[in-house]
Amino acid sequence: MLEAHVYPGGCAGTFFHKGYRFDAGATVAGGFQADGPLDRLARRLEIEWPVRPQEPAWVVHLPRRSVLFGKDQRDLLRAFPHSAAFWRRQRDLAAFGWKLGGSGLPWPPADGSEVLQLARTLFGHTSEGRRHWPFAFRSVADWMARDLPGEDREFRRLLDAQLLISAQATSEKVNALWGATALDLARQGTMQVEGGMGTLAQTLARRLQELGGQLLLRQQVTRIVVRKGLACGVILRRGRRARTGRFLPADFIVANVTPWTLASLLGDSVPVGLRRETQLRKPGWSAFVLHLGLDQRYLSHGAADHHQVVTSLDGPLGEGNSLFISISPTWDDSRAPQGCRAVTVSTHTRATCWQGLSQKDPAAYGARKAAYVERMLQHMERALPGFRAGLRLTLAGTPLTWQYYTGRHLGLAGGFPVTSLLKARGARSGLPNLRLVGDSVFPGQSTAGVVSGAMRVARDVLRQGVL
Ligand SMILES: Cc1cc2nc3c(=O)[nH]c(=O)nc-3n(C[C@H](O)[C@H](O)[C@H](O)COP(=O)(O)OP(=O)(O)OC[C@H]3O[C@@H](n4cnc5c(N)ncnc54)[C@H](O)[C@@H]3O)c2cc1C
Repeated sequence: MLEAHVYPGGCAGTFFHKGYRFDAGATVAGGFQADGPLDRLARRLEIEWPVRPQEPAWVVHLPRRSVLFGKDQRDLLRAFPHSAAFWRRQRDLAAFGWKLGGSGLPWPPADGSEVLQLARTLFGHTSEGRRHWPFAFRSVADWMARDLPGEDREFRRLLDAQLLISAQATSEKVNALWGATALDLARQGTMQVEGGMGTLAQTLARRLQELGGQLLLRQQVTRIVVRKGLACGVILRRGRRARTGRFLPADFIVANVTPWTLASLLGDSVPVGLRRETQLRKPGWSAFVLHLGLDQRYLSHGAADHHQVVTSLDGPLGEGNSLFISISPTWDDSRAPQGCRAVTVSTHTRATCWQGLSQKDPAAYGARKAAYVERMLQHMERALPGFRAGLRLTLAGTPLTWQYYTGRHLGLAGGFPVTSLLKARGARSGLPNLRLVGDSVFPGQSTAGVVSGAMRVARDVLRQGVL
């Protein structure tokens, strides 16, 4: 396993800075429930995850009220009593979604044997399927119109904010069946990871080595070499400043990158379909993040560890208008100097305008960055009143930061929105012995999503008889 950075984890890594261990991006760990992706992976690899349950999962601060998301939906129903039918359907659809996922649903099917496997899985769930399939072709907004009496702006805004962080789009666009599963994260139970999210990747890296694999850090793949229509190896550069590369042969390659990065690694050998995809696909979201060191005396007693702030009921979300705040747990003293907590705050942002600005007008880029920091700190007051006096350290990251540290094209983060199941992207690259994993591949974003997608690719590789 080749990793360009000095530690594994990428967007779900944890980095050390001035006594703090900051989660780079991902902070909420899900998918550990019985038969969830992380549970299945742990059983397969015979590992134990260093995690502790967390309840509530997070608190959403709307302009006029705050709502808890947790294992039961009691607080949601108290705040929005008329939404009972909506949440009943959500639980039903999500149970169906998890069941399909648990049976290793090969979606989208890549070859004849996967079509057969898919048919067997769907046939096994025919009676529930009949009730649920119509929602596979509707949006969450259509489902809301059916199950929610009347129009409720506040409820819709709540759902839109939830869907933006879990499915990368809002209710008008997100597929209903997929959206119901994305909305189920808190109900399935979320975890705090000892030492930060990066410990998940560290745990996997340790097991890889115990099982005889090797993780080579500071090894950037600069080219995938193709001969006679097959990937035959990679050119590696050790460290960012190295001028020369060396060739490492390979029988089969699994690339943990975006389709755009894959195309550029293939250069002139890029298959036609992949080239067309990179020309036609619109770039999705990136993130603006703050990493803050905070004196915990300035946090109110018993404050939850995760908060989502939605600043208004109208206008676009993201761009500082909606934030996700995560505070390291009080029990984890590895995360911050004594008496302090490590905080990660993120907001969705469009990558393209940051990229253009940094090249054309560095001063305007700096000013925009400072404005985002200020806007986000101001909005954080809603969740953590008085916290600013306790600020000990502030680091800000733009899409360019993501691009630099993870190598992601334009710093895009979080994969593609699942707007239509028929448009889901599989792992195939166009070359028979090269696959894609990561959040560009269905089911997409999140640690749970990338684990699901990667386990399917692992099965596929084993089926090819390479190992
Ligand atoms: C701000 C933010 C908040 C998020 N919050 C959550 C959350 O709370 N919960 C959650 O589950 N998910 C969250 N996510 C999403 C989640 O982090 C990602 O979907 C997931 O981590 C992506 O994993 P990946 O393997 O696809 O890619 P990456 O994380 O980008 O990993 C790719 C890895 O490959 C390495 N690499 C890239 N190119 C090369 C190369 N050429 N040679 C060698 N190595 C290379 C990179 O260094 C990196 O380590 C969040 C994402 C962001 C940005």
